[in-house]
Amino acid sequence: MKGISRSKFRGALIGSAVGDALGAPVEGCTMEEVSSVYENGWELKSGRYTDDTEMMIGVAESLIEKGGFDGTDMARKFIRNYHAWRHYGPGTRAVLKRLKAGEHWEEASKRVFNGEGSYGNGAAMRIAPIGLFYHDDVDTLWDIAYKASHITHSHVLGKEGAAIQAYSVALALRGQREGMLSYLGARIKEGIYRAKISKIEQLLDADRKLLIEELGNGEAAFNSVPTAIYSFLRFHTFSDSVIYAVSLGGDTDTIGAMTGAISGAYYGEEAIPPEWLSALAKAEDEGRKGLRYIEWLGDELYRIKFKI
Ligand SMILES: [Mg+2]
Repeated sequence: MKGISRSKFRGALIGSAVGDALGAPVEGCTMEEVSSVYENGWELKSGRYTDDTEMMIGVAESLIEKGGFDGTDMARKFIRNYHAWRHYGPGTRAVLKRLKAGEHWEEASKRVFNGEGSYGNGAAMRIAPIGLFYHDDVDTLWDIAYKASHITHSHVLGKEGAAIQAYSVALALRGQREGMLSYLGARIKEGIYRAKISKIEQLLDADRKLLIEELGNGEAAFNSVPTAIYSFLRFHTFSDSVIYAVSLGGDTDTIGAMTGAISGAYYGEEAIPPEWLSALAKAEDEGRKGLRYIEWLGDELYRIKFKI
């Protein structure tokens, strides 16, 4: 556990929530629209997060309660935590409805999108706790990321995206920023991800327009997970990475959340701007799960992982 601190566990989860909340007001906007909304600075106005964080909380709660992955329990947590106003995608809504009606978690997600399952980024956006919990065993991490994705996203490209995001969080937690791309490259099986991850290095000076053309900023996992990894690797502070991710427009809350998870795991909670943390705390004052609760989830995952 060399260099792996409680602060980095907290950082990954809080970072994810902060990135989500920063992207939430501009979800679906163009690059130009995002810069006009944030023209007076990158203030986190309400601290209100979306489905990304609500589901990430469910993943963490289930790992903590069960001491590891349990698909039935995780599905239950998703259902219990669900609030329609957090902007869930239609595919996830349909699967949650099936789960609630009693369908098994290994079956429900296969029924959507004409039986093909979803390759959206809805599994990758919530996967950070799995990256933390299984950071020291990549075979298990990959396998559990696939299973945890399957609860709502059964298409292989949805699962592979979640596994790549989980592994990126683990590598960041372990301080393996250098070499991250080759570690990922050695593991990735799906061609579209291999192609995009292999382009990241040569795009590090690209302008936003080219970057969006090459890596994407959309809701498909393969159009957003590589973009989040890129946003982390291009910059050297938590806020620069997350602001950049959101500035691209498109699926801003999710790309922000995934960039925030990787960056938070790398830099730790102290690197997150205090005014963003207080905005997240404000969301808690409304009687909801906010900063303190998410910090507690990070602490518990750390405690259980290291048996302390
Ligand atoms: Mg969202």
